[in-house]
Amino acid sequence: MPSGAEPADGPEALAARERLVDELARALPRVAPAVLSALRSVPRHLFMPGASLAEAYDDHAHAIGHGQTISQPTVVALMTDALELRGGERVLEVGTGSGYQAAVLARLGARVHSIERIETLAREAAARIARLVPGDVVVHVGDGATGLPREAPFDRILLTAAARRLPEELLEQLAPGGILVAPVGDEEQWLGVWREGRSAREGRWICPVRFVPLIRSDA
Ligand code: SAH
Repeated sequence: MPSGAEPADGPEALAARERLVDELARALPRVAPAVLSALRSVPRHLFMPGASLAEAYDDHAHAIGHGQTISQPTVVALMTDALELRGGERVLEVGTGSGYQAAVLARLGARVHSIERIETLAREAAARIARLVPGDVVVHVGDGATGLPREAPFDRILLTAAARRLPEELLEQLAPGGILVAPVGDEEQWLGVWREGRSAREGRWICPVRFVPLIRSDA
């Protein structure tokens, strides 16, 4: 067994993961090598209880219970890459879900605050993350649609649920030089990137995506 791997992360899982990330590297040649290494180092199947290795290592979103999904690996790669992490950044993730994306961010050296509105998901995700990347991720239970003002500012903010329109409050929680990445839209959604100091209208669109909706408790 490779050093540092959990008992549940055996050679079969490792081989399946290598195959998936090799495919991603071919399909997404502009994604930073560090992002691909992070994807190689996080056992996605441990975030998908009940899923087979084949399901965990195909390039699809999957149900994780409570009507929610773990994102497609291609989309995780693109979103993570768009955050341009160098290590040491304070990152807010809205929508912890399984905890997989948060673990990938932590592997890139980010100090992550992740917020999830469904308590059971948050609790389970926190336990998985604590085993893999202890100390690097704080999981909060609550509505993160308007960010996490008490922990702001953040160098990076990532939404992993789709906002109908980008909440301006999120841009206001970015530190100087900060980057916000979010899926936006309803029936048709696009992944967008915004820079601190710009308005919600000045985003750059990356690709069409399909995310579960961001639920606003005040809506
Ligand atoms: N990043 C996750 C996938 C998230 S799916 C992963 O790696 O597995 C989107 C998640 O956003 C769901 O778990 C959903 O419950 C959560 N969510 C939706 N609206 C939210 C809100 N306003 N605040 C916090 N979490 C929210």
